Amino acid sequence: MTPLVGLVVVSHSRALAEGAVALAREMAPGELAIEVAAGLDETTFGTDAVAIAGAIGAADSGAGVVVLMDLGSAVLSAELALDLLDDPDARNRVLLCPAPLVEGLVVAAVTAAGGAGRDEVAAEAAAALGGKRAQLGAPADAAPAPAADAEVTAGFTVANAHGLHARPAARLAALVRGLDGAEVRVRNATTGSDWIPAASLAGLTALGALAGHCVEVGAAGPGAAEAVEAVLALADRQFDEAQAPAVPAPPPSSAAGPLGASPGIGIGPKRAAEPPAPVVPDEPVGDAAVEGERLDAALAAVAGEIRAGRDTTARELGEAEAAIFDAHLLLLDDPALLADARSGIRAGASAPRAWSDAAERVAATWEALPDPYLAARAADVRAVSAQVLRALAGGPAIVPVDASGPAAVLVARDLTPAQAAALDPERVAGVVLAAGSPTAHSAILLRARGVPAVVAAGPAVLAAPDGTPVALDGATGELAVDPAPGVLDTFRERAAARAEREARARQQAATPAVTRDGVGVLVGANVGSPADAVDAAAAGADLVGLLRTEFLFLGRTSAPDVDEQEAAYREVAAALGGRRVTIRTLDVGGDKPLPYLPLPAEANPFLGLRGIRLAEDHPGLLADQLLAAVRVAHETPVSLMFPMVAALGELVAARRALDAAIAADGRGTPVGLQVGIMVEVPATALKAAAFVPHVDFFSIGTNDLTQYALAAERGNPGVATLADPLDPGVLRLVDAVCRAAGERALVAVCGEAAADPLAAQLLVGLGVRELSTAPPAVPGTKQTVRDMDVAEAVERATAALTADGPAAVRHAR
Ligand code: PEP
Ligand code: MG
Repeated sequence: MTPLVGLVVVSHSRALAEGAVALAREMAPGELAIEVAAGLDETTFGTDAVAIAGAIGAADSGAGVVVLMDLGSAVLSAELALDLLDDPDARNRVLLCPAPLVEGLVVAAVTAAGGAGRDEVAAEAAAALGGKRAQLGAPADAAPAPAADAEVTAGFTVANAHGLHARPAARLAALVRGLDGAEVRVRNATTGSDWIPAASLAGLTALGALAGHCVEVGAAGPGAAEAVEAVLALADRQFDEAQAPAVPAPPPSSAAGPLGASPGIGIGPKRAAEPPAPVVPDEPVGDAAVEGERLDAALAAVAGEIRAGRDTTARELGEAEAAIFDAHLLLLDDPALLADARSGIRAGASAPRAWSDAAERVAATWEALPDPYLAARAADVRAVSAQVLRALAGGPAIVPVDASGPAAVLVARDLTPAQAAALDPERVAGVVLAAGSPTAHSAILLRARGVPAVVAAGPAVLAAPDGTPVALDGATGELAVDPAPGVLDTFRERAAARAEREARARQQAATPAVTRDGVGVLVGANVGSPADAVDAAAAGADLVGLLRTEFLFLGRTSAPDVDEQEAAYREVAAALGGRRVTIRTLDVGGDKPLPYLPLPAEANPFLGLRGIRLAEDHPGLLADQLLAAVRVAHETPVSLMFPMVAALGELVAARRALDAAIAADGRGTPVGLQVGIMVEVPATALKAAAFVPHVDFFSIGTNDLTQYALAAERGNPGVATLADPLDPGVLRLVDAVCRAAGERALVAVCGEAAADPLAAQLLVGLGVRELSTAPPAVPGTKQTVRDMDVAEAVERATAALTADGPAAVRHAR
């Protein structure tokens, strides 16, 4: 006979345990092993880990054991008992089940006696309260187990490195909410969790589904099969999650701070950006209906503010960055969280109390998850909870910046992207973060919004009282809290010089940039949308040095067709009024997946199928894009460039595809069409000579080139100080390209380094003759060129090539 799953009952009271077992045996007579480890003796309450371990051993006949516990230390003792089991196989066969003791035991006994496996026994037991809840009309906190005949069930294994954390969970919840009709539930089969509604973000995250865990999906109702299929497809795409850490890991404590994160001088009185944690008031409780309405109004207000942050981010940084806000929005609308808060209100609590308690329960559940990454997401719940509490108190949810008085320097431990997006650059002289990193989303947003910022400043900066004078230089990372008058004067002088330089730069923005010794350098703009192109033209850009065409492809369910692409490129060209537009073909891949472009899961997507490498597998995508570009190239000067080129064969194939597009267009090669490659792969830089006969230009992407040259991922704050484009190793790669190109091909740089005045000088010294930056940096970069002397730049660049590190490059004079 196949062995049955054994049961162990852990209780503080032996009498209680024995009574429960008697009840269960009544329902499930037969040979089932049910062991009791309860009480310190017949009458003394307590639990004993050694006794529990013994009971587990006695109950295990090879099919595994499900342990049911009563409260508090019973759970701790059971966990300890697991540690006491010497045999890892035996330990792996044990499931500690969160079911209520009596109901759970009865259901477990019936299920186990029927020959069910350990996971099923635990899941059935865990769902045991469902019947009672339904009967009493209480909101279900766990969806009932799917009834086999009414449901479609399937399973998937979580492939996301950080498991089903907030972002993938948010995708899943959003997908399920968008389905018409079907009711979808999931459970973590690996841990034997409850079934929970897949529309509940709180529930999904609390599943604790880590990489490698099996998740079961069940759906009932109309469209159940399609629903399950859609969930499986999403899981297959790893929930459309970039494989880089969705939320940057904290920088290592060795990261030297403060670090410059957004250039500019900020001077002003300190203002703590983070309002103190809202205290939940002990208000007299109003009418439950009134409290419910208060909560609804606060949720709507916070959703509005978060949406505004999302919109700003989408506009300034693109859809991929904006997706970070989606998890916060979903929390505001989470069915389980809201049901809990509303039931608190019905039970007589005020809206703030009921909301705060419900949110804290979710945060505490997440915090208790064994995976530190998932546990850290509790901070997201608390951030959203605090925003709602602030709104309930009648204030704005996000960073209230006093509009009166002088513009302040905001000081905070860290800023969420929503907070960074909500800052009014007119009212904020600068930002100082005790933690944070220059590559974090909030820092990117601050740069995009032109707010000077210093990060990783250490906790001491938080202690200064509000109103203390603070001065910072966001380019160098210099920070002075309560500076001596002389120091403050230095910052003021620097600010004045900078303002004067910016004014000069603005005045001359539209004129070409020529160095002091007469060398012309093109200054272009990196553009990610037609709106950016308008900004680029207004900033005086000589050309679009990089059109990131991803904007046309992300955040949709099918690829744009040729006409749509043509219209978008034409819109960009129109904004530039006849100036050259450099169209980069699609640079998506493992780190920026597209829902309609099925890609295999990759352990290292930055080293995988991205950029031009994808074109081989999806020739139709490239052909459409090239045809659209060729059509526009008949009306405006167009440069075409291919991203992530690592092998000459890739360029040759891409050129062949371009020839085919020109033939398909039928009007011959457009006058002024130029072709080039991005140099982002170190090997390509070193063998640039092989590419020279096939290109008109090289455009060096220092963002990627730096990450690949130094093996330091560009989005990882833990290696942010390593990933420095001024590293002599990176500069040597640039030098290799310039030497290979000579007079035969133009060398451009379109990575972020082009906007750094020192880097720009070194790049021009090495032979770069086009710098392409974010639109707001164009006037300043032109000014940098005008202040430059190429002979001097060559000298400095030559010395930099043999320096021992980026610090030596920076400080060499
Ligand atoms: C680069 O890699 O430097 C670059 C400009 O491309 P992207 O930032 O779009 O990867
Ligand atoms: Mg790149």
